[in-house]
Amino acid sequence: MKTFSKSRKLDNVQYDVRGPVVDEAARMEENGIKVLKLNIGNPAPFGFTAPDKILDGMRDAVAGSQGYSESRGILAAREALVEYAKGKGIPNVSAKDIYTGNGASELIQVSLTALLDQGDEVLIPAPDYPLWTACANLAGGKAVHYICDEQSDWYPDLADIERKISDRTKALVIINPNNPTGALYPRELLERLVEIARKHELIIFADEIYDRLVMDGEEHVSIASLAPDLFCVTFSGLSKSHMVCGFRVGWMILSGNKDLARDYIAGINMLSNMRLCSNVPAQKLIPLALKGYQSSSEYFQPGGRVYEQREFIWKALNDIPGISAVKPKAAFYIFPKIDVKRFNITDDNKFALDFLKEKHVLFVPGTGFNWPSPDHFRIVYLPDLDVLKASAEKLKDFLSTYRQN
Ligand code: PLP
Repeated sequence: MKTFSKSRKLDNVQYDVRGPVVDEAARMEENGIKVLKLNIGNPAPFGFTAPDKILDGMRDAVAGSQGYSESRGILAAREALVEYAKGKGIPNVSAKDIYTGNGASELIQVSLTALLDQGDEVLIPAPDYPLWTACANLAGGKAVHYICDEQSDWYPDLADIERKISDRTKALVIINPNNPTGALYPRELLERLVEIARKHELIIFADEIYDRLVMDGEEHVSIASLAPDLFCVTFSGLSKSHMVCGFRVGWMILSGNKDLARDYIAGINMLSNMRLCSNVPAQKLIPLALKGYQSSSEYFQPGGRVYEQREFIWKALNDIPGISAVKPKAAFYIFPKIDVKRFNITDDNKFALDFLKEKHVLFVPGTGFNWPSPDHFRIVYLPDLDVLKASAEKLKDFLSTYRQN
């Protein structure tokens, strides 16, 4: 009988959103076991809601959205994004430089597919949001990981970036604020990253989907604002800032010296046209959302849910013997370190699976974020305080006897 295998194109692609640990959690739930889930950055199931204005806006938008829009998106959305780009100091942006997408995800794939030839290299952080690595490899390119340094608040290691640049390197990916570490990069660091991109003539891809989810009175700086002479692509959207992941609304902004990328932009346009357009009712939310309905901002102030949950989880993790964690400044992730010698851990998937089976708590092991050693894991601290407290206690208890064999 003729059977069907997946394409060879997928041989170099790893994307384990559903790995063995998640599969086991699903099996447990099917058998009636309650699992505490600290594994996905999806606010809605944890009681975070978009403001009524946004929900009403989506409802109102549906009737008039039956047709395809212009492939890059409706003009009103792109004009609102031109203003947004201006507010962030992103230079040389007009409506034709903006593309809306079904989430930033779609546009990350478009931008890498349009750019990469076989063997072209893209510098991507480790740990990363793994879609970047998967899309670079799927496009026939090669994801080359540069280390972010836990000792320095998880900032990119500039010397490591320089070391890993070759004559095949085309682009530098910066995820700021960062998933999975929660790091927020200061202006001086971004300036040094721009200097590297300038020296080596690289495109900057800036994933800034968490740019409005910043704590402690810190300011997010768009790296594209510091690079008017380079070609930059900045990605963002409403998924996280407005807690509407399911509406699938994202965008990308081309900025800086676009003369450097005329032919590449023609490729982006071709791929954008091929997908016709992004979800039209959701595009209509963009002007509304960017004109003041920053639904999530109060969650990130002292007294707000995300802020208080961060304070709790950061302290609770650092109180567990053998665990240490850098305090996140943005988004809703923390990436704790495990003292692997103490627990004899050599396989972080096994660690996550053992913990899940014994204590019914699910998190993602660090190697799922292209982190090279089995000594980290990611916690999403969106679940409410009771769940976080129970999870931290279970982890402490579990680790008091755990030895991996
Ligand atoms: N970029 C980062 C760093 C993310 O963490 C995520 C989702 O978790 C995305 C992009 C995807 O966002 P979207 O919902 O806009 O596709």
